[in-house]
Amino acid sequence: MCPKVSTIKPELEADLVIIGGGGSGLAAALTAKEKGIKNIIVLEKRGGLGGNTAQATGLFACESPAQARQRIIADKDVLFKRAMDWARWSRINPRIFRAFLNKSGDTIRWLEQMGLEFTVIAFFPNQEPRVEHVPKGRGAQLTKVLAEKCRESGVQLLLRGSGKKILFGKDGGVSGVLAVQGDELEIKTSNVIIATGGFAGNKKLLKKYCPLYYDGFGVRGLPLMGDGLLMAQEAGAAIEDFVTLLKEGPRVDLHTWPLMAIERDPITVWVNNRGERFADEAIGMHPFEAGNTILRQPDKVMYSLLDTSIVQNFSVKLPALDKALQAEAAGDRLKISKSWDDIAKWINTDPAVLKTTIEGYNACCDRGYDEIFAKERRYLQPLRRPPYYAIRCQTHILDTIGGIRINERMEVLNSQDKPIRGLYAAGVATSGWEAETYCSDLSGSAFGYAINSGRIAGENAAAFILETK
Ligand SMILES: Cc1cc2nc3c(=O)[nH]c(=O)nc-3n(C[C@H](O)[C@H](O)[C@H](O)COP(=O)(O)OP(=O)(O)OC[C@H]3O[C@@H](n4cnc5c(N)ncnc54)[C@H](O)[C@@H]3O)c2cc1C
Repeated sequence: MCPKVSTIKPELEADLVIIGGGGSGLAAALTAKEKGIKNIIVLEKRGGLGGNTAQATGLFACESPAQARQRIIADKDVLFKRAMDWARWSRINPRIFRAFLNKSGDTIRWLEQMGLEFTVIAFFPNQEPRVEHVPKGRGAQLTKVLAEKCRESGVQLLLRGSGKKILFGKDGGVSGVLAVQGDELEIKTSNVIIATGGFAGNKKLLKKYCPLYYDGFGVRGLPLMGDGLLMAQEAGAAIEDFVTLLKEGPRVDLHTWPLMAIERDPITVWVNNRGERFADEAIGMHPFEAGNTILRQPDKVMYSLLDTSIVQNFSVKLPALDKALQAEAAGDRLKISKSWDDIAKWINTDPAVLKTTIEGYNACCDRGYDEIFAKERRYLQPLRRPPYYAIRCQTHILDTIGGIRINERMEVLNSQDKPIRGLYAAGVATSGWEAETYCSDLSGSAFGYAINSGRIAGENAAAFILETK
């Protein structure tokens, strides 16, 4: 963890050091600056800012000005209870979650004042109320604006500056950060916010903390290594043992990802590699739950089956679909064939089993009743028109969730639940804000939590700095 000690270490000094220049780190830096903290350094390991936040679509908020303008009632008490019920009052720390909800509406106001414009959408079909705030230009624009504001206000952004170790003084409080930016450097400071994001790139940590993990998981975001989690652990922070995964790609952006839109549509038929159905396909409208069912299948894989009628109906809504299907057919994720036997061969399953599945499903459609999984009648459409399509689907990690134990002020806690003086953490490096399965009703929570927890950490760190100066 700690780099070899070199003879000359350039020294810097700051009131506050933020490790990580993604969504939570930039929000924390700007907030602390606004609260009157003069000398702030953001260390960002990569050559650019924004982290995974720059890849996100929309952020959760309730009781925001954007919702008010659109007359959307997104009551924070109702959403709080929904989130807690979803989590069965486990895994989510209600005080942390409440702090996030309480701040979220004001965060949209804060961002709008910087010139960002939001559309409030339902990310998933039937989602009520609409809570996902999509900034014009998405996460990329939002993080760009935050970075610009940080620069304008004099926050020092040290790119390719990697935090390595948090240092402590004799009094037990934070005394500095050891970092590498080409050379090693030591930054003297009494206050650090860890905002290093997740650890989707670190197989060792994934295996240790995520019971669902297996080597076939695709990673859709940056391969971040969980540096903050390790640094916090080394500093004596408690690490929650209930780390979970933010899994599965969302199925919203029909035009950018037409294949993803069609493969999870309720009208498709899903089989595992034994050629058997295993779920009500309407679960595809909730990709995080769908991820759970896929992970329970042999080899953690499923195949979404379609026929030409379904594809043609979709093509009307999605002109990009045909091109996407043809492009995919050239690879190994999609098979198009006039024969189910041929598709069974491609899946590597028994053709007789697949035949029984398709005939059984078609009979369900004719009867208008799915006696196994009770799929809604309106989604029951037989697969009878060749050529047929099979798309291989697996789960992906968008980001990891959980790790550093904090309280609602984003102070890092030790194993006795006591705050470590001067140490804060924000964003997905922390735990206590998400259930085992991501709650679709609160879509945009990861992005929303990153920005809001960053702001909360920035405020509390600033208050502590001003108090102790
Ligand atoms: C493709 C994709 C789409 C997504 N879409 C959505 C969405 O629509 N809605 C939603 O809610 N969530 C979404 N997410 C998840 C969400 O965007 C992230 O979980 C969240 O924004 C993470 O914010 P963060 O600030 O904690 O971390 P990040 O934004 O990832 O920032 C962490 C930063 O820390 C830096 N860092 C790491 N280690 C060090 C170190 N040692 N020293 C210095 N810097 C370091 C990293 O380089 C990175 O820049 C998506 C994720 C992906 C990948």
